[in-house]
Amino acid sequence: MLGLYLHIPFCSHICNYCNFNRGLFDADVKRQYVDALIVEIARAGDGAPADTIFFGGGTPSLLEPDEIGRLIEACRAAFDVAADAEITLETNPETVTVERMRAFGDAGVNRISLGVQSLHDTELMRLGRQHGAARARVAVADIREAGVENLSLDLMLWLPQQTPADGRATVEGLIALGPEHASLYILELYPNAPLREEMARAQWSLAPDDDAADMYLWGLDRLDRAGYSQYEISNVARDGLLSRHNLKYWTDGEWLGFGPGAHSTRGGVRWRNVSATSEYTGAVQAGGQLIAERRILSKREGLEEALFTRLRLTEGIDLELVRSRYGVDVWREYGSELKRFVEAGLLIYDDRRLKLNRAGMLLANEIMTVFLGSDVR
Ligand code: SF4
Repeated sequence: MLGLYLHIPFCSHICNYCNFNRGLFDADVKRQYVDALIVEIARAGDGAPADTIFFGGGTPSLLEPDEIGRLIEACRAAFDVAADAEITLETNPETVTVERMRAFGDAGVNRISLGVQSLHDTELMRLGRQHGAARARVAVADIREAGVENLSLDLMLWLPQQTPADGRATVEGLIALGPEHASLYILELYPNAPLREEMARAQWSLAPDDDAADMYLWGLDRLDRAGYSQYEISNVARDGLLSRHNLKYWTDGEWLGFGPGAHSTRGGVRWRNVSATSEYTGAVQAGGQLIAERRILSKREGLEEALFTRLRLTEGIDLELVRSRYGVDVWREYGSELKRFVEAGLLIYDDRRLKLNRAGMLLANEIMTVFLGSDVR
């Protein structure tokens, strides 16, 4: 089944560490944009079955509930969207009220992914976030009061000036909020992030790498003890409520992305839309070309990507599945280079699976490079 991703590139404020495809909110631009998105979805529609819709951004919760409703309707009109489809709305705490959340639910949203990032006011201020910890807690209470039963919270660790004790307190705070799903990311600063300059000016530093690793490992261990199961490097869930949409990215699934910069993968072809919102909206209105880049994935690219993404999952790579889908014996192909990671206790190999343990997850990027540049044709 397809996953449908709808990009909403608007934020009420630009955070100093963010390099997503987004711009400042403007009500007129947004109205035109929603109309353009509906046209793109209708044009792509072929009635194929889909079982997830994901509103990502940006800040999708800046849209009005009736706009989200029109977009979901457009997806239902263009595709055969399952009655029990997972429909996720990424949300920032400052946009939450009980009424809005209820209205999003009435429009069809059944999963909220809330960007909390930290439960420490000073850390949030350093990140340039628009909410404090108290506002995030009120948002969670409002979301629950509105009847949302599937809630995911995002946290970031290794923040400027954050100590391991601060990181642990935020994880404890998250557990007390009782989400069904949580994502735990390590902050990655891109080269020109304004936060880098602010850190230099204010002389804020990052904790040593070892402390970052401790925060991550301690956080996952604590979430285990609180009844969550880790299923991906940065993601845990309770009661089997894994992100069905994101799993498509990690298991060679197929998805269509709508909006500027959105990627799609279907039928062995990958493409990406133009990045700028104005260019995108103009192209839709003029009936012009939206695709900036399109390529047929070679067998090698398909294999590399499958190995890369599946290794992110705690269940790891199913060796028989790769053999049947790509005709490749993973251990024969890569075993000589992977062996040192197995011997170092970072990677677990048995005849059926290859998977990272948590220590290996900390070095996942290094281990995954083994799969790059293989000569499988
Ligand atoms: S709210 Fe999210 S998408 Fe928007 S600027 Fe901040 S981090 Fe980026």
